Amino acid sequence: MESSDILVIGGGIIGASVAYGVAKQGVDVTLLDQGGSTPSASRGNFGLTWVQGKGLGMPRYAEWTLDSVQAWPEFSEDLRENSGISVDFKQPGGFEACLGEEEWCRRKAIVDQMRQESVNGNYDCEMLDRHTMQEMIPKLRLGKTVYGASYSPHDGHLNPLALLSALMAALKNFGIKHYPENQVESVSFRNDSFEIRTTKQRFSAKKIVLACGLGIKALARQVGMEIPIRPQRGQILVTERTLPLLEQPFVTIRQTHEGSFMIGASHEEVNMDTGTTLEVMRDLASRALQLFPELYKLQLVRCWGALRILTPDNRPVYVESESCPGAFVVTSHSGITLAPLHAGRLSKWIVDGITPEGFENFHPGRFDA
Ligand SMILES: Cc1cc2nc3c(=O)[nH]c(=O)nc-3n(C[C@H](O)[C@H](O)[C@H](O)COP(=O)(O)OP(=O)(O)OC[C@H]3O[C@@H](n4cnc5c(N)ncnc54)[C@H](O)[C@@H]3O)c2cc1C
Repeated sequence: MESSDILVIGGGIIGASVAYGVAKQGVDVTLLDQGGSTPSASRGNFGLTWVQGKGLGMPRYAEWTLDSVQAWPEFSEDLRENSGISVDFKQPGGFEACLGEEEWCRRKAIVDQMRQESVNGNYDCEMLDRHTMQEMIPKLRLGKTVYGASYSPHDGHLNPLALLSALMAALKNFGIKHYPENQVESVSFRNDSFEIRTTKQRFSAKKIVLACGLGIKALARQVGMEIPIRPQRGQILVTERTLPLLEQPFVTIRQTHEGSFMIGASHEEVNMDTGTTLEVMRDLASRALQLFPELYKLQLVRCWGALRILTPDNRPVYVESESCPGAFVVTSHSGITLAPLHAGRLSKWIVDGITPEGFENFHPGRFDA
């Protein structure tokens, strides 16, 4: 039986970020993943490092997200040094466009409420009119229905596949034990230690981290935790490459480092179905053309569906089991945005056991009522 101090189950962005942070603290860590080719959230996401609009009604989450995007420049450098891979991280600020005055007013109400809820009343997001917005996007003409946008200087984007590759390469360089084709079937707790059985072998560890996305629910029950998560499909379109036209990402469209436009993403309750549909592709493309009509010239070259891992309020769950201390659950939508903090403060919590301030907000007990 292989043994380690900390064993992380799930080799997506979240498990890899946590393993990276734990390994950097010099702790012996093992990473397990079930493998397979299903388009997981970590491979099928939109690649935004996004702060605006996050944390309405939960100021601790807004603060956590802002801290994370502020840590991104240093984190991407650190990752490049340890992996030799650039994730093409850029933070030029980002827009959430409003088609028509009604959408703009609804958006403004959200931004105003977030400002009121913020700790110092200083929420760094502003509403722009169409004219100001167009001046910031000199190379693409805005469509007639664009009324304006909300804008945050902290928003950015990156290549999410490069992020996953960089984390894996860094983990390899750190010499951590990685088992990519091991589906965990059971976890049990005895004599202050965990035994983990996979389809291939057995492992033991003093602590375990359940970071296996939609696989968390079944394993968490075995160590005394109920984690209410569900899948939600997002479809994304990709165009052929073109000249650099758009520097800033929008929540529904961005131009990649290589020149493609990514257009996304739908929100569909279809259980575990990762397929694509013509109807949704049409809707996504049509909204993109309302925003930037000139994009009609570009060919679409790819489309995929991937599953978000959502809690009932779309906010993270970070929790240690009470009945099996040493078993942690880490799950979150926005795993790209939050990677620096998952590798930083959160992995320190797992190693030291000292709960970061305000973490009670992320306890799943909030869903009990
Ligand atoms: C369409 C879409 C767009 C998104 N856009 C953004 C964005 O712009 N910005 C952002 O911050 N976030 C975005 N997200 C969310 C982000 O992608 C997720 O928060 C993140 O990828 C979750 O990572 P994860 O590691 O928890 O889950 P996953 O990627 O699902 O990884 C979990 C891993 O666990 C493994 N696993 C499961 N069960 C077991 C088991 N029993 N044993 C062993 N291994 C197991 C799986 O094989 C998988 O590799 C988006 C998500 C989607 C779907």
